[in-house]
Amino acid sequence: MARLNDPVTMLKGVGAVKAKQLENLNIFTLRDLICHFPRGYEDRTQLKTIEKLEVDVPACFRAMVMNTPRTSHIRKGLDLTRVQVADHTGRLNLTFFNNKYVSENLQYGKEYIFYGAVSGDFIGYNMTNPIFEALDSPPVVTRRVMPIYPLTAGLTNAAMLKLVRQALAICDTPPEILPESVRTEYEILPADRAYQAIHEPQSMTEAEQAKKRLIFEEFFVFSAGLSLMRISRAEKQSMPYENTELRPFLASLPFTLTGAQSRAIDDILADFRSGAPMNRLVQGDVGSGKTMVAAAAAYCAANNGRQSALMAPTEILAEQHYHSLKKIFEPLGISVALLTGSQTPKEKRTVREALASGEIQVAVGTHALITDSTQFNNLGLVIADEQHRFGVAQRSRLSAKGEDVHLLVMSATPIPRTLALLMYGDLEVSILDELPPGREPVDTFLVNESYRARINAFIRKHATEGHQCFVVCPAVEENEDLGIKAATVWAQTLQNTVFPDLRIALLHGQMKAAEKEAAMASFARGDADVMVATTVIEVGVDVPNATLMVIEDADRFGLSQLHQLRGRVGRGSAKSFCILTSRNRNPETLQRLKAFCKTTDGFKIAEEDLKLRGPGDFFGSRQSGLPTFKVANLSYDLTTLKQAQEASAQWINDYGASDTPEAIALRDRIGDLFQRAEGTMN
Ligand code: ADP
Ligand code: MG
Repeated sequence: MARLNDPVTMLKGVGAVKAKQLENLNIFTLRDLICHFPRGYEDRTQLKTIEKLEVDVPACFRAMVMNTPRTSHIRKGLDLTRVQVADHTGRLNLTFFNNKYVSENLQYGKEYIFYGAVSGDFIGYNMTNPIFEALDSPPVVTRRVMPIYPLTAGLTNAAMLKLVRQALAICDTPPEILPESVRTEYEILPADRAYQAIHEPQSMTEAEQAKKRLIFEEFFVFSAGLSLMRISRAEKQSMPYENTELRPFLASLPFTLTGAQSRAIDDILADFRSGAPMNRLVQGDVGSGKTMVAAAAAYCAANNGRQSALMAPTEILAEQHYHSLKKIFEPLGISVALLTGSQTPKEKRTVREALASGEIQVAVGTHALITDSTQFNNLGLVIADEQHRFGVAQRSRLSAKGEDVHLLVMSATPIPRTLALLMYGDLEVSILDELPPGREPVDTFLVNESYRARINAFIRKHATEGHQCFVVCPAVEENEDLGIKAATVWAQTLQNTVFPDLRIALLHGQMKAAEKEAAMASFARGDADVMVATTVIEVGVDVPNATLMVIEDADRFGLSQLHQLRGRVGRGSAKSFCILTSRNRNPETLQRLKAFCKTTDGFKIAEEDLKLRGPGDFFGSRQSGLPTFKVANLSYDLTTLKQAQEASAQWINDYGASDTPEAIALRDRIGDLFQRAEGTMN
């Protein structure tokens, strides 16, 4: 018996050339081969009669050879072999190109099973290059469900199937990781059957069952992994903070904290005192005051002699945080420094030295702050703001910066619970479900083109009163879909013809990072009245003076995205508005947008969005910390995800620490998974 880790070169027919081809598909071992799953199937189980064959629809049929195949040499390199076959319903002419095998193997008067598609032309039906097997031979390429594999140059589907078969014949399938109770409850195939059936299903139904099992397995491993990570971190040691007194900090703030902020801070202080490193997500809608929660945590760390690092996804956000923290901390005698890529080498060096010596207590910067060579004297707390990008693997790697570093992740994106578990299942969660008092909700309206003049007048009114406006367009440049207002063109139109007297700025995703930051910073300083932008403004930037958000062709956006965009206004004391324009007439679309106008609850919107559009908006290109799933597709397999999460939570609870064969195999798989995720981060 061979082993899963044995190299594919041990298989018959795999020499240097095949091995290289397999390598292109990341297949090195028998395990890789067995886990190289088909991307689809062809159902060749049904036999049709010749009469029932449909043009261009491949099918299997049984027929007798009516004459001796005749090969004619058309020209150099082109031989045609023709033969006629028939069943009780009709006759069919077959044509083969350059296929010597045919004349040797199709015998006059014998029956075969063919698989192919007829093409119809004026002479009648014809079939080109069907595959076939003798009636009495075992079903290899006909009368079965054929797996269709992802391939690479030089490697045929048939060759791949042969190799997989060989591997399955000489080697055990990957071990069972799902306990029997789970398999029974969720009606899931056992591992050995699933791995066999995904490659060689008896029926399409069995192929589906095998796929479901493997998807379930993937989610199960991932969810269980997160839970185990959380549990194992809770077992780590961290010097409890003794001084958790916040009164001087609280007294210095120009406002009192909201109840939700106080509760989140209490959670954090309890973590600090616990003696285990904190792993906490603070989730709160835009404007709920997450920065103050972070500040309280950093204040407490400083009072216990530990440094904090606050990471923001962009330089402009980092600068914003730096300024607001500096204002609070300097009077309290806590030193704050900014470290970003655009500083001069000398500035950076000075800050790095001060961090290494411990002179700086709170460092604010971008991602690089924690991932690059920056040395801290005594890092105690890492805060990641607005980050999907700070993924599981990075969190698990954090301990490299210090065994006992506390982690606080802040997210403004309300994420439906199922997905949150997938992204943040290794974290404890505090939710800021309350906005600071006096914040008026942003009034939202849906209008059509007939309101254009009024929208323009409204923009002018806000500008004249000294406020600023955002106008968001769905695309950068005019594409084939002429309906979309491209930001660039629209900015020009507004500047040249509608508001020649106002200052119009432009921001879009095709600008360089530095240009984007400069444009945003300049707008935040009040250098322009109207900023025309694409969705790049979505992330966290604070321009309290902006009071109007116009979203063009709003039906093009996801609801969660609209919610994030709307959150860019209503951040100051002045009443703010959001106007959605749409030329869409679809009643459902309009209904959805109208519902959005009436609610400000980010979680409700997120759930709705998930139902409507799948999880793409939540993960999309912004995520990177998640491992990639091999079989599972987050857009389609949400039900399975939910089941796997329930099952894994239950299982961890009941058996997490046990040493059943399944538990041991599961822990192995989890180890592999996170190692792989880690690998993709570097
Ligand atoms: P977000 O959760 O979106 O990061 P911020 O932390 O940027 O929110 O806070 C938004 C605004 O609310 C900031 O101007 C901040 O100073 C203010 N703020 C935060 N907490 C309170 C509070 N308890 N009372 C009044 N204003 C607050
Ligand atoms: Mg924020």
